[in-house]
Amino acid sequence: MKKRFSIRWWYPLAAAVLLAIVALVRQSTAVQTAAPAVPPVLVIDAGHGGADGGASAADGTLESDINLDVALRLEALARFWGAETVMTRTGQDIAYPSDADTIAEKKIADQHARVGLANNTPGAVLVSIHQNNYPAASPHGIQVFYGSAAGSGELAELAQTNLTALLCPDNRRMAAAADKGIYLMKNANCTAVLVECGFLSNPGDLEKLQDGGYRMKLAAVLLGSYLQYIRGAAT
Ligand SMILES: [Zn+2]
Repeated sequence: MKKRFSIRWWYPLAAAVLLAIVALVRQSTAVQTAAPAVPPVLVIDAGHGGADGGASAADGTLESDINLDVALRLEALARFWGAETVMTRTGQDIAYPSDADTIAEKKIADQHARVGLANNTPGAVLVSIHQNNYPAASPHGIQVFYGSAAGSGELAELAQTNLTALLCPDNRRMAAAADKGIYLMKNANCTAVLVECGFLSNPGDLEKLQDGGYRMKLAAVLLGSYLQYIRGAAT
């Protein structure tokens, strides 16, 4: 899987998804009347990584790899659009503190670092990218969870509506408050959502998630939803 993306090789697809983003943003009925006090910054969190691969599919596909790929595509599209971004990670390696020895300690240190990055970024709007997993193969679909800070529920509703309408119209999953056990969502004091893009345990979802074009669409719809959200938040 590629680590970085140049605009060139996927330019035709980028043009198509950018048109989709424009359509999404135009759908927003909000009228921008004033710039927000602090310019928004899209903080993109590729879930897991380093010592923590996250969930894994039956064929060995790692959640952390798919998360990173979608995150890098979202970053590339956002920059192409001119949106400011911050990444919690840009590769598979994570620099852990020297006193973090066990995987549990490394995970905790990593979560603290990600929350610190989001909370220390003025204007942060956090989008955390994950893949779901379940013991049975049948559960499928996209679901967006939200943190407790202002705006989180609104962004989650926008993203859930857009992702369902554009990528999986039969999806019945609804935006929902994140479980209190999800450290990042609980402790981020900015607008924050966590997107479960699909189930690695479902063959249909897995097949889609292994397709670069589909991951590009995921990134485009997430960017469109973010742009809709910040447009509305500025009014
Ligand atoms: Zn995850």
